[in-house]
Amino acid sequence: MVDWFTQVEVGPGVIRVGEPHVNELLSANLWWLRGTDRDIVIDAGLGVVALRQAVPGMFARDPLVLLTHAHLDHVGGASEFVDRAAHRAEAQVLAAGVPASLYGADLYDKLGIDAAGEPVPDLLLDALPDPGYDPTAYRVEPMALSRVLDDGDRVDLGGRELTVLHLPGHTPGSIALFEERTGTLYSGDVVYEGWLIDNLPNSDVAAYRRSMEFLADLDVAVVHPGHGDSFDRTRLRQLAAAYLSRTA
Ligand SMILES: [Zn+2]
Repeated sequence: MVDWFTQVEVGPGVIRVGEPHVNELLSANLWWLRGTDRDIVIDAGLGVVALRQAVPGMFARDPLVLLTHAHLDHVGGASEFVDRAAHRAEAQVLAAGVPASLYGADLYDKLGIDAAGEPVPDLLLDALPDPGYDPTAYRVEPMALSRVLDDGDRVDLGGRELTVLHLPGHTPGSIALFEERTGTLYSGDVVYEGWLIDNLPNSDVAAYRRSMEFLADLDVAVVHPGHGDSFDRTRLRQLAAAYLSRTA
């Protein structure tokens, strides 16, 4: 059995969980936050390997999973959680079963992405979790939400409170979670280092621009994104400015 998940404690009670054997297109971060009352996990990974078996400690304290948006690399493992929350604009896609495949061409097809002549990777894993794993059987099961989120909602874990920021553009119900006390922003796919995807069938460039204008003014100390490494406010403003200039 391959060690599927990496775990790095990036701050007190904040653990970044990664999936290094997943192609960079789909290798997302999960952010496991320890509160005094309960834990929350921001995003749930691809769902190729069961979190309950690989990271049992994550489930010891009745965790709530907060889904930043309804894409396979963020919600594939979410059905393992009893308590799930996402923005109301993502609920329908989650209930229908999000489009999913571990094969590049098939996934692009299901998501409605035009590769525009770029090479598309074949299998989106560089290792199988175990030799018997069948990537063709991969699915993301339909799932219901136990809590529906709106902009401004607060999620209290005890000693730690997150505010929901509705920041549409990548998808209609994309959210970030903001811990005001520490200036920590969990940004999902709204902003990260890399090409920001705004060309999906339900993406909205005008909305994305408004989301970026909002983030450029937000007083953050650190951004923990849905993909790649964390960055500071200066870098956030640069990434927002770059997006606003390329879509002007
Ligand atoms: Zn996404």
